Amino acid sequence: MKTIDELLSEGVAGRRVFVRADLNVPLESGTITDDGRIRAVLPTVKALADAGAKVVVASHLGRPKGAPDPAFSLAPAASRLGELLGSAVAFATDTVGESARSTVAGLSDGQVAVIENLRFNPGETSKDDAERGAFADQLAELADLYVGDGFGAVHRKHASVYDLPARLPHAAGHLIATEVGVLKKLTEDVQRPYVVALGGAKVSDKLAVIDELLGKADRLLIGGGMAYTFLKAKGHEVGISLLQEDQIPAVTEYIERAEKTGVELVLPVDVLVSPEFPDLKTKAPTHPTTVAADAIPADQEGLDIGPETRKLYASKLADAATVFWNGPMGVFEHPDYAEGTKAVAQALLDSRAFTVVGGGDSAAAVRLLGFDEDAFGHISTGGGASLEYLEGKTLPGLAALED
Ligand code: ADP
Ligand code: MG
Repeated sequence: MKTIDELLSEGVAGRRVFVRADLNVPLESGTITDDGRIRAVLPTVKALADAGAKVVVASHLGRPKGAPDPAFSLAPAASRLGELLGSAVAFATDTVGESARSTVAGLSDGQVAVIENLRFNPGETSKDDAERGAFADQLAELADLYVGDGFGAVHRKHASVYDLPARLPHAAGHLIATEVGVLKKLTEDVQRPYVVALGGAKVSDKLAVIDELLGKADRLLIGGGMAYTFLKAKGHEVGISLLQEDQIPAVTEYIERAEKTGVELVLPVDVLVSPEFPDLKTKAPTHPTTVAADAIPADQEGLDIGPETRKLYASKLADAATVFWNGPMGVFEHPDYAEGTKAVAQALLDSRAFTVVGGGDSAAAVRLLGFDEDAFGHISTGGGASLEYLEGKTLPGLAALED
């Protein structure tokens, strides 16, 4: 894989460089609530601009339906990028249309432009190779060189991630190089004990990684929404908690395999439950109760790990040499259900382990709950991408950057 440093040493002055970034930041009524992903691409954008390139930054944001939708505009991300760079960033109001062409044509050396959300064009995410290829052809007209730095999207076979690098001389940006370097430490010569904490809401996405981790990790701590599928597989009732009924056979097999191979699979012993999901906008107080994990009432939903589980998980993290954490332990956006996630974050800070935090919401949780992100070994910008890497899958966006 060619690095951006090699590209820079060949000289990029006056060249138009397309940077596929991941500016998919969380927005609340047009305001960015966490700009971590924008800051993560700064080293690459700065290096190119300082070297005199005309930098064309592109990204997706959210899941618009293949057509322009103001709710998913990249305009707020473009202005934030400008603030962070300390210089004006031009913004094109389309992806490959008149605005993009004239904006790019108007760039002087060292200037940066952002083009509108790539997913406003159906070709970006199309399953049809020809449709994706046609969009990639149009994108290729905007640039002379390609730098892949959108780590959060490398597991997607999308036009700007997979097809475009095949059409332009390409290199990997600083963020992708860093992310891949860190993930290698979790897959090659890992320091033990290796403890993995998994939570979050995307249960079916995350169950697949457990299959792989059962052969790699020494200990797996399960929290968040997926805990309830495990509790159910153990024969406990889970009330109205998040449940992936169709995954119970797979989960049952994981539990059996863990026992056979001596991997410690740790489940919550108590949980916080509530009759309804909390209001994340008003953050109005709710009335959570703590119940044993095998005694969840039929009309209640499990929304966080309980106090005993917090202590248990902290003790299971204390002696770790390597930790991978993906997915909050509870609905951390509401203060009533943030303690489980806080406890895991604190346990990581207290341990001397090399820690990798993966997942958009996990990373946001670390920052929103007031932790100093620099105290963690590495906060990955890509949840799905890091999970698929750990699963041993070939990631289209990384494969496309190989020569
Ligand atoms: P990440 O982005 O870190 O990979 P996910 O997107 O999978 O994590 O999940 C994050 C979401 O999971 C958060 O919005 C959080 O509120 C939610 N969550 C955590 N625990 C539960 C639970 N027990 N029930 C429902 N949602 C949960
Ligand atoms: Mg998420």
